[in-house]
Amino acid sequence: MRVKPGSIGFDIDGVVADTTEAFIRILNKKYGISGLSAADIVEFDVCRCLDIDPEIVEGTFAVLLADPLAAGMRPLPGAVSVLQHLGRQAPLTFITARPQHRPIADWLSHVLGRQTFQSCNLIAMGDHDGKARHIRQAGLDYFVDDRYETCLELETQEDITPLVFTQPWNKGRHQLRSVSSWLEIAELCHL
Ligand SMILES: [Mg+2]
Repeated sequence: MRVKPGSIGFDIDGVVADTTEAFIRILNKKYGISGLSAADIVEFDVCRCLDIDPEIVEGTFAVLLADPLAAGMRPLPGAVSVLQHLGRQAPLTFITARPQHRPIADWLSHVLGRQTFQSCNLIAMGDHDGKARHIRQAGLDYFVDDRYETCLELETQEDITPLVFTQPWNKGRHQLRSVSSWLEIAELCHL
């Protein structure tokens, strides 16, 4: 398998961004809830695995959605260097379920650097379902996402190959092709 740069697109939260780390940190800082670790988040819908008031969970995500840059959300290890490398060969495409474009654009520009970001295609679609249409419009063959339900939906499209980015909430729940690190993505792209 050799993935051509420009033929692969990326989800952001849980793929490029270490959303879990920021979520746990904000939960602690804003609501004083401590003792959680990344391994505790074993459901994409975190209310299903944490015994925390859904309003608190919502409030925490609201912070991350409104201003991920101010919230100090970090990229996952290796993401920035691989994306910068890929971005030099072809424009990058990101498709996120986030509803607002501006806050995540600011974050992406900050972590990737303005030069890499300038040629990026960033789609904030505001929905977890229906990514296939945007993936096809962007001319991609591969898409990396941590939500396996999204990947299962993409798998039904014969022209798209989903790659599940391994996270505790998708482990052992699917039989799709997966990648567990940015090093593995770099290898697939023969960087
Ligand atoms: Mg995600």
